[in-house]
Amino acid sequence: MGRNVPALAVGLPTLKISRRGAGRLQDGHAWVYRSDILTVDGIPPGALVNVTDERGRFLGTALYSSSSQIAIRMLSTEAVSDLSGLLRGRIQAAITYRERIVENTDAYRVVFSEADFLPGLIVDRYNDLLSLQVLTQAMDAEPVRSRVLSELSEQLKPAAIVERVDPRIRELEQLPSRLSSVIQGEKSNTVFSMNGVQFDFDAMEGQKTGAFLDQRENYAAAAKYARGEALDVFCYQGGFALHLAQHCSKVVGVDSSRPALEVAEKNAALNHREIEWIEGNAFDLLRDYADSGHQYDTIILDPPAFAKSRRTLDTAMRAYKELNLRALKMLRPGGTLVTCSCSYHVSEAEFLEVVAQAARDVHRNLRVLEKRTQAKDHPILLTIPETAYLKCFIMSVSY
Ligand code: SAH
Repeated sequence: MGRNVPALAVGLPTLKISRRGAGRLQDGHAWVYRSDILTVDGIPPGALVNVTDERGRFLGTALYSSSSQIAIRMLSTEAVSDLSGLLRGRIQAAITYRERIVENTDAYRVVFSEADFLPGLIVDRYNDLLSLQVLTQAMDAEPVRSRVLSELSEQLKPAAIVERVDPRIRELEQLPSRLSSVIQGEKSNTVFSMNGVQFDFDAMEGQKTGAFLDQRENYAAAAKYARGEALDVFCYQGGFALHLAQHCSKVVGVDSSRPALEVAEKNAALNHREIEWIEGNAFDLLRDYADSGHQYDTIILDPPAFAKSRRTLDTAMRAYKELNLRALKMLRPGGTLVTCSCSYHVSEAEFLEVVAQAARDVHRNLRVLEKRTQAKDHPILLTIPETAYLKCFIMSVSY
């Protein structure tokens, strides 16, 4: 942008936004909320649109949603005359970036929506499989959807592509309901590896797109400090537990999901490890264990996002505090706490403060060994704060 007189792409509907909406875009954000849209007459769901300010000045090309509160997501600050070329370039750039920053794994996020300038599209690679999630009308609409799929197959040559459907998102975007399915190729099972650990993978099962790839670098970091007896709370399919097992004499994993633990056990066998998996509610178990004097040298806390919105923040903070407090009670002096929050609505400072409060309450001293975040294949775009969500602190209990 910023050339003399930026042109509108011919044939695209034009959408006018308020001064506040334009300000957001100028600040480098990609979203404009419905309340900042001034004209939407006759724009079809999922359309590619020209965006202008109040005075009709061209601001860029965006993807429109007729139902989401996020009415448009910017695709380019320029006029897009060759949509296929743009999609090809963006996917290529996302792949090239991963080639530079991803190591020791054949499983990583290939496309992370806005952070890769492909708003509404998530693509994860698990060895020879791709798992795809479409989050918006525009990414589901033709010709975008087909172009994305053919670029992914051409550039990455996966054995199969599986689409994971989140029914809640399709409902919010008023898209016809659809089930998760293999949309290209035939297989949906594979084995992937990260940091030398093997994982069994069924693309049709599990939460999110199947695994929590955003923790990959944190698994390796946690493993560096782990020793003695370890407890992995909210272990899912054993991501942390299997890494800890490389260095610890005993590892226990806790999760409330039986299907997740069944995969965890398969993963343990695949890596010739013995890990004890406990199905249960982490809050109850931590209370019982802390009260009955269990002790550990390493504890991982990686709960689901407790604060799904600002409204639930207070309850979320109490939950984080409770978990950290129980864990700290059970750590031996010199022990390691790895404590995570994937709630976007809880800032790093707020999360650190809640861990500090827990430490004060149980009279333990904590040293911060590492303040970490999501793996680099889940890029954080500085001007879009929503792209940064994961906090992972590695702490040492001094006494
Ligand atoms: N640490 C995991 C990811 C954890 S995701 C990894 O690295 O792969 C959060 C997990 O918490 C999910 O597996 C979910 O089943 C589990 N969970 C949610 N609420 C729970 C509760 N109250 N008690 C125990 N597990 C819970």
